[in-house]
Order: sequence, then C-alpha cells, then structure tokens
Amino acid sequence: MDIIKAPRGVRDVLPDESWKWAYVMDAARKVSNVFGYSEVHLPIFEHTELFARGIGDSTDVVEKEMYTFEDRSGRSLTLRPELTASMVRCYLEHGMSQKVQPVKMWSAGPMFRYERPQKGRYRQFWQLDVEALGSDAPEVDLEIISFAIYLFDMLGLSNLEVVVNSVGCPECRPTYRQALKDYVGSKFELLCPTCQNRFDRNPLRILDCKNEGCREIMKEAPGMTDYLCDECKEHFHRVKEGMSLLGIHYKEDKNLVRGLDYYTKTAFEVLSGELGAQNAVCGGGRYDNLAEAIGGPHVPGVGFAAGIERIVLTMEGQGCDFGPKPAIDVFVVTADDSAKRAAMKLLYEIRQNRISVDMDYSGKSLGSQLKMASNKEARLACILGDTELQKGVVTVKDLASGSQEEVSRDSLVDYIRHSIAH
Ligand code: ATP
Ligand code: MG
Repeated sequence: MDIIKAPRGVRDVLPDESWKWAYVMDAARKVSNVFGYSEVHLPIFEHTELFARGIGDSTDVVEKEMYTFEDRSGRSLTLRPELTASMVRCYLEHGMSQKVQPVKMWSAGPMFRYERPQKGRYRQFWQLDVEALGSDAPEVDLEIISFAIYLFDMLGLSNLEVVVNSVGCPECRPTYRQALKDYVGSKFELLCPTCQNRFDRNPLRILDCKNEGCREIMKEAPGMTDYLCDECKEHFHRVKEGMSLLGIHYKEDKNLVRGLDYYTKTAFEVLSGELGAQNAVCGGGRYDNLAEAIGGPHVPGVGFAAGIERIVLTMEGQGCDFGPKPAIDVFVVTADDSAKRAAMKLLYEIRQNRISVDMDYSGKSLGSQLKMASNKEARLACILGDTELQKGVVTVKDLASGSQEEVSRDSLVDYIRHSIAH
C-alpha cells in the first residue's frame, strides 16, 4: 500500500522552518501592540454567502478558488480564502460599532484557495491580517500602510516596493468603467478568453490579468485616478501626502486593483523582487462598502493581508536574520546505568528552573550520548555516573570548548544559569 501523502498544494512546516515562522509571528505581535491592534481568533469556515457577497461573485477567488462543501445538514460552507470578510462579519455580529472607532484588530492563520501550486503559491497558506473598522479617515489608510512597512523593516526586509492606487467609489467608478470598456472594447479580440469573459461582468479585473498580451494592452488603458470624484481625489491625495510625511517611498500604479466590487479608494501592495511571479508580500486597501454588501450598516474599513510563506521566502532570499535558532541549553548524560534515576530527577529539576534540557532514553553509550548532545546543539553536558553520585557532584562539560569541571550538585542550577548567560 502506498504511503498517504499530504494533498497537492499543502505543505508541512517542519522544525527547520517553523522557528522562522515563530520569529515572524513574534514580530507581528510586537508591531500590533505598538500600533494598538488586538488579536482575534476567527473561524476557519464560514457560510459560503459571506465570501460570495463580501469578496464579490466575479472575482477569481470566489469564481475559481474556494473550497466549498456541504455539511451534514446541507448548509453550504467555505474554508476561508481570506480574513477581511470574516473580520467585518465579526465586527457586525458583536455590535462593535458601539466601541471607540476605529476598532483595530488583527488575526493570523491558514487560508485556503484552490490555485495552481508553485513557489510562494499554495492551496493552504498563512496570512497575517490587520484591519481597522469604523473610520473613513485617510490617516487610517496611512496607519495601515505604515503598519506593514514597520513590520517589514523590523524583519530586516529590503528592496521592497510599495505600490498604491485609488479604485474610486460607486460614485466615480461607473464613469471610469465606461471609459475602460470603450478602450478595451476596441481591442476585444486581442484579450485572453478570461478577460473577454470579464469584459461585461467586471472589466476592472482585466487590469489585474497576469497574461502578457492583456498586460501589454492595459498599459495604455485609462487609469481610475483620472476619473476620481473630488472626495476620492482628496482622500488619495492625503494618503500620499501622509506617506511622504512618514518617509515611505511609493510608486503609483494605475493598473493596481483589488478584488473589486466592494473595495473603494486606496489599494496598495508591497512587492518583492525575490519572489518571481508571486511577488506580492502583502496587499490591502479600503473597503467602505463591504459591511453593507454582507447585510450590515455602512461601516468603512481599511486593512491588509500579508502572506507568511512569502515573507519567510523573501527573508531567506535576502539573508535576513531570524534571531537565534532555538536550541536546548543542557543535555544530561549518564555514565552508568545506576545513574539513570538520579539523571531523571536532575532533568526535571533543571526544567523546573525554566532551563531547556534533554536526555537520551534509549540506553546509548556515553560517547553516543555526547554526540547526541552536540547534534542538538546543547551548550553544556551534565554527566552523572557512580563517581559523581558518590561525591555529590556533576561533571559539567562545555561542548564548544571541550573543557569540563566538577560542580557540586547543590550549586549546579546556579552554575548552569551563569554559564548559559554568556
Ligand atoms: P496574488 O496576486 O499573488 O494571487 P492576491 O492578490 O490573490 O495575490 P491577496 O488576496 O491580496 O493576494 O492576499 C494577500 C497576500 O496573501 C498576498 O500578497 C500574498 O502574500 C498572500 N497569498 C495570496 N495567495 C496566496 C497563495 N495561494 N499562497 C501563498 N500566499 C498567498
Ligand atoms: Mg490570487
């Protein structure tokens, strides 16, 4: 019988890599505190309707990428492909409009999209999601963008490109949409079949097409920013002004759009050259009409989502520091079988002092135990045998220098603590 493997497009994050994730998540947690965002844990699955309406029926995510299933009572549920819609649902469901606005929340966890797996693109992947709900102030857009930049700076990422655009609002978008259709209509035959299909349903998605031919055509397309209403224009101006004020370098890209329909005004992405075709480390923007789209009152919001795999890949590519790789401090080694019981006790005592320590349970020779200690990158080996037991001491070996000395059993913990602090 063949060994059962994980499904296509999903991956195990093994100990070699998981400590790097922990470093990234730790940084994310710190930045969240600095910016005043609170963590929420949201469900992995939601009613399909939430995403269909929240993200928009004619987006790639909803049309092609969702993991949708019926539960045992025939309800249509979907594994979350992103977190924004869930965040807004959570805000509405818990009456958060009664709180001080904006309500600032973050969450992280696995997302699910049925995509073609490749480097930096998986069917289960992790996102860090940061959202501010209940304010339409451009300063909040700026806060969200600066949150992302702050985090990437803290992680030591360099050569990132911040790309911004405004996708307007229901007032100004229809005029633009028509101008875009007039332009694209004249090149209809040259578009890829997907974009021909998008022409009537959601022509703005053509701007986002990855097909080379379509990209070439869209280079000359009219841009939304030339059609913005006064309010959207002013909003975009203030966001850009704020970025300059904070020293955030950015580039405007008139073809940058998000999964549209309910997205409004600011759209942004942070790109990295390290990632090849999957070059977006994070994407975000404003979605003032999302709450209404899922049946709630008007609640403006802005946020971003960053892909954890892509952050780690970029950091690896740029040789960024992930901090010290976690290793145990101490390895307890038994020189004789008679020392086993004393070793067990010593092991637990060291652990009770919050010092990381391990030992061998398989009866290996002294030499093999010491080898195991170096494999685990322990700093010290605490050797216990008949001689040590009789004298009431432990032989402590510094595994880097090879030097060793006898330490009295009573002062051992202090000795270890002192040694590993250096
Ligand atoms: P892309 O253009 O790469 O498909 P997207 O616009 O679909 O990205 P968003 O929905 O904005 O992505 O998600 C935010 C972030 O989540 C992306 O910038 C990326 O870092 C990450 N991400 C999105 N899809 C995947 C995936 N399938 N695998 C790994 N990371 C992903
Ligand atoms: Mg995508």
